[in-house]
Amino acid sequence: MRLRGVLPRLTAPNACWSCGAPVPTAEPFCPTCKSVQPPGQADHFSRLGFARTYDLDPKLIERRYFELQRKLHPDRFATRTPKERQLSQAQATSLNEAYETLMDPLRRAVYLLRLSGIEVGGDGKTVADPALLMEAMEMREALAEARSSSEVDQVVARARSEADAVRSTLSTHFSAGDLKSARTDTLRLTYLDKLIEDARARRLNVA
Ligand SMILES: [Zn+2]
Repeated sequence: MRLRGVLPRLTAPNACWSCGAPVPTAEPFCPTCKSVQPPGQADHFSRLGFARTYDLDPKLIERRYFELQRKLHPDRFATRTPKERQLSQAQATSLNEAYETLMDPLRRAVYLLRLSGIEVGGDGKTVADPALLMEAMEMREALAEARSSSEVDQVVARARSEADAVRSTLSTHFSAGDLKSARTDTLRLTYLDKLIEDARARRLNVA
């Protein structure tokens, strides 16, 4: 397996609360005294040892997550001080948040854009792109008009295949640094995912 986007953890060291030695950002334990550290402000990518990139191997995300999760397991802190127990819990919470965000392609894209200062929005009010708005409305209509479960399934199949295509161009746009197009794709994915979710509810109400 190719290791993609591995970032050396050597940025902006903080001082260990226990021994005062420098601790690299996103490092959960002090390299000197091994004390667990506060989670701090590290982003989700660096917390799992990745560079800020859209293309991540889910298996590698999982492997790093479970590795860190094991090290932060409550059993390991059962005999430690209340402070260390509290810090290990805070670390575990931040780790879970990082894992859930990076594992979901849509959440990962939204987060990656946010780190670049771009808010995706996607509440339906911010669809400024006319072509995108048109497509979203057309799919909504098709879903509203579906009168049987097989008609709902057709809309879902179309939304799924479009979502797959969007995930692939999204990757291309992120690698090329074209964040404007990446934002449009992310908006598309947002409404496609929402549509698929709504279709599930709709399916219960048709014959
Ligand atoms: Zn230390």
